[in-house]
Amino acid sequence: MRSGFSRREFLRTIPATLAAASTLTAQESKPRRVRKGEMVYRRLGRTDLMVSEISLGGSPAPNEMIFGRAIARGVNYADTSETYEKGNSERKIGKMIKGRRDKFYVATKCHPRRLKPPTPAGIIGMAEASLKRLDSDYIDIYMVHGASKPEHLTHEAVLGAFDKLKKDGKIRFTGASLHGPLANMAKLLVECGRYDVMNIPYNMYSRVKVKKGEKYDDYLQRSDIEGVLALAKAKDIGVVAMKSMAGGNFQKLDKYLTGGTTVPQAKLKWILENDAVGTIVSELLNADILKENLAVVGTGLTRRERQALYRYAEATSSVHCRMCGTCQEVCPNGIATTDIQRYLAYHDGYGKRTLARRSYAALSRSAKALRCQNCGACEQACPYGVSIRQRLRRAERILA
Ligand code: SF4
Ligand code: SF4
Repeated sequence: MRSGFSRREFLRTIPATLAAASTLTAQESKPRRVRKGEMVYRRLGRTDLMVSEISLGGSPAPNEMIFGRAIARGVNYADTSETYEKGNSERKIGKMIKGRRDKFYVATKCHPRRLKPPTPAGIIGMAEASLKRLDSDYIDIYMVHGASKPEHLTHEAVLGAFDKLKKDGKIRFTGASLHGPLANMAKLLVECGRYDVMNIPYNMYSRVKVKKGEKYDDYLQRSDIEGVLALAKAKDIGVVAMKSMAGGNFQKLDKYLTGGTTVPQAKLKWILENDAVGTIVSELLNADILKENLAVVGTGLTRRERQALYRYAEATSSVHCRMCGTCQEVCPNGIATTDIQRYLAYHDGYGKRTLARRSYAALSRSAKALRCQNCGACEQACPYGVSIRQRLRRAERILA
């Protein structure tokens, strides 16, 4: 097992780390983190790629000007998918990294379960289409998009196709973005030994739960995601944190501001405290968001910021879905409760109203909120006290 910083050691040594420019443990071929100019780079597990602490989310990809600024400020990793903007996200990213391909890392994703049935040839075809859109000879990390069931990670066709793509030099590393019952899926990804990287929803709500006046700190020890991240670190799997804004960039947060630090910045700092995390995929959609994100690089949470963040989490806990998938599993009527929570987040927090409505429209009739029988089983099962039925009604009102 590789040795590394504990969280406390990491926090204590940030200034020294940055002053010394790098840290290197005995077994690792590369430092865990290194500062170059304005950016701090972290080693992405066994890929050995040194990726910027903040990286670029491709859904949607930013315009050329923002993308160019991000690269100039040291961002060297983008996360996209064949489906983002119907392939245009890959095209935009391919265009922007032309001439600097060897200095920029791209992760993109495929949807094998859309093939009926999934076959190695079909998945290889998906990778080749992505390569064409990216205008590149290789993909740095090729991922299964939105794996929410064990077979999404372990299907023979997926594993066979990924092996062949690696052997042919078309992809360098493999990974998956995880949805559904996260702790179980993440454990499977780590333990099956076939993947190098995981994209996992990870944000500060992972720490606080408020229900009927009770407050639990660090409830991740219950959901086991924190444990899974520690396991990933021990097995040297690269961790990419997604859904970092936990509710989005577009919420009204003014009353929780902490001096010079905004709530979104505090959320990012909270994630970066965990040194299992290699990078945070962030939606760098405009110059303000880019500036706000990059200002957290190489910094840590102050006590005041942590307190403000917790106040914010307490106040918003009952409307914030953590995408754990529990409610969807227990609904006797097959309502897509978790998916619907996600579409509401697109609408309310991320400014993606069209995507929210389109996604809701794509659900089968029987999975829509309208078919809810109001039995309450989902709310009883939700570990976080989310007012699911109220939110389903809202979804039907604003997304249908
Ligand atoms: S209240 Fe509605 S969504 Fe929730 S479990 Fe019952 S039928 Fe499913
Ligand atoms: S509403 Fe609750 S149970 Fe359902 S996915 Fe969100 S956090 Fe999990």
